[in-house]
Amino acid sequence: MRWSGQELQTEQVGALPGLARLNNLVRSVQTPEFAGITFHEILCKSALNHVPGQSALPYGYTINPYRGCSHACTYCFARPTHQYLDLDAGKDFDSEIIVKVNVAEVLRKELGKPTWGRHPVALGTNTDPYQRAEGRYRLMPGIIAALADSKTPISILTKGTLLRRDLDLLVEASEHVPVDLAMSIAIYDDGLRDDDLQQSVEPGTPTTKARLATVTAVRERGLDCGVFLMPILPFLTDTRAHLDEALRQAKAAGATSVLYSGLNLKPAVKDWYLRWLDREHPELVARYLELYAGGQYAPKEYRTWLAARIKPLIRAHGLERGIVDPATGGLRSSALPSSPERMPAARRTPAFTPARSPGPGPGTGPMMDHRPGSLKWARSTEAPRSLIAAELPTDLAPTLF
Ligand code: SF4
Repeated sequence: MRWSGQELQTEQVGALPGLARLNNLVRSVQTPEFAGITFHEILCKSALNHVPGQSALPYGYTINPYRGCSHACTYCFARPTHQYLDLDAGKDFDSEIIVKVNVAEVLRKELGKPTWGRHPVALGTNTDPYQRAEGRYRLMPGIIAALADSKTPISILTKGTLLRRDLDLLVEASEHVPVDLAMSIAIYDDGLRDDDLQQSVEPGTPTTKARLATVTAVRERGLDCGVFLMPILPFLTDTRAHLDEALRQAKAAGATSVLYSGLNLKPAVKDWYLRWLDREHPELVARYLELYAGGQYAPKEYRTWLAARIKPLIRAHGLERGIVDPATGGLRSSALPSSPERMPAARRTPAFTPARSPGPGPGTGPMMDHRPGSLKWARSTEAPRSLIAAELPTDLAPTLF
């Protein structure tokens, strides 16, 4: 291990009681390549997480090779899960990363059981499997191989361009099992909102441009690639101009579908996000407090307004095909019954060739001005219909890991 000699301590039972309780902590590691980040390597006892169903689907399965995420999105819905480890949902979530170093080995054993039903397994529905640490730990190749060898359909959602490293493996896997890939890209350069906003609100992530290039790389290999336009940030990225430009860029990159959702702010996430907002956009704080006064969800009126704005644009850009798996929050596997896509991925999609200079999208007519404050939000605590993992009840959160 190239980090040998750089260990902080082999056991930190006293320093990190939550971690010590969690599972077999092997050691904690820091390295100059990841300044400010500590990796806590653990030996996990299980790899597959069973997510109880909240819809017509009975259940879903997820794998999270990491806990915490150095992508450090201020709005990240998984932040509160760090509190189960006696770590905080803010800085600790970004910088105290738990690494399940034996996850592929444990997974292979679980998948080898005669009782395993080969239900699709989603990755990236909580913490990102292609965050920077994956460049060192290389857990995903073993996970992909174990899933493919056991004929288990794979669904991956990520912001990490490191996905490209494993494209050969994923293409090979798609010859045996359905493989469903999606990039999460929330903020686009529309002339007003650019990389400054993206790098400010998601400081550890690859740029939008790099992520769009990853979509293209996936499509050039003949696999579908959805885009998760999530979360849409009220008063920042919910203008018609931004949404239309986002969809145009996703389409030009080769995205096969776009799924969207507004911003949800669980209590601990709300604190962290509002601190960022207060630093970067103090003029919006009062309006956010009003919008989210009823809880973690924006009022139904806002969500209805947003849907009415974006759905025609998604349709106009021809990006309607994707479906969120309500059990996991990831892209619904094309292996699932009643899904519109049941053919193996290798036959489903011809290789994609990006257009040299994509013209304006069908929604690029005269832009409607976004007029903050022009809508009055009635208070509503009703949860939105979407049942993505972010919206599971708090007491289910531990099962996601
Ligand atoms: S990439 Fe995903 S898991 Fe990681 S911080 Fe951002 S939202 Fe959270």
